[in-house]
Amino acid sequence: MELSIQRFTHRILPLAHHYFKPVSRTAILTRPGAFGPSRRNRSSGSAARAGWFLGMREKKDVLPEIVKAGDPVLHEPAQEVRPEEIGSERIQKIIDAMVKVMRAAPGVGLAAPQIGIPLKIIVLEDTVEYMRYTTKEEIKAQNRQPFDLLVVINPKLKKKGNQSAFFFEGCLSVDGFRAIVERHSEVEVTGFDRFGQAIKVDASGWQARIFQHECDHLDGTLYVDKMVPRTFRTVENLDLPLAAGCPKLGAR
Ligand SMILES: [Zn+2]
Repeated sequence: MELSIQRFTHRILPLAHHYFKPVSRTAILTRPGAFGPSRRNRSSGSAARAGWFLGMREKKDVLPEIVKAGDPVLHEPAQEVRPEEIGSERIQKIIDAMVKVMRAAPGVGLAAPQIGIPLKIIVLEDTVEYMRYTTKEEIKAQNRQPFDLLVVINPKLKKKGNQSAFFFEGCLSVDGFRAIVERHSEVEVTGFDRFGQAIKVDASGWQARIFQHECDHLDGTLYVDKMVPRTFRTVENLDLPLAAGCPKLGAR
């Protein structure tokens, strides 16, 4: 999931505005060559994009490109990883690449289809550093806390309780946009870690949202497939008022 780095406005941070402007989210994400492979490979589909992994592009330190909306790999269900395959070099390399791509973006979560691999693997991480881009009020409202890197293979997600929350979210595969999505406030996620050990995570707040966003990717669902209608907007317009009838941000 794309980092929740909101645009700093004069209203929120009058003095910091000019300091932050040069490193705006848009600038970072649209930087040419930010994700490695050259443009001429872009039209050749996700299988070719995954060439870095298949040995077609062995250059060191070249990260796979983030696959963008419209590529079939993002709109079809991913396959389970066979348990006996988890320890393989292939799967371990995929996981390493996913972590690197997520951190380079930067993002708080990534699913394997986003680098062109149709397998049920997700990685997620949130840090104090990332949270500096959001106001204290927002962090509190979103119930957001930093957590260490999590790798979950074949995740299964179950909602807990009946509370849900409405917040804007974004996606590295739908670069530059945001929309409000209703998510469960608490979920339980089971699956396997990268060593093949069974794990269970009880997640709430922002972490629960990241889990739901990433698990949706494994079902071929993007946030735009379940966003609240009429809340879709560019990152630049994030702070503009919502249309009449749109739900207010927050948990309920
Ligand atoms: Zn996403």
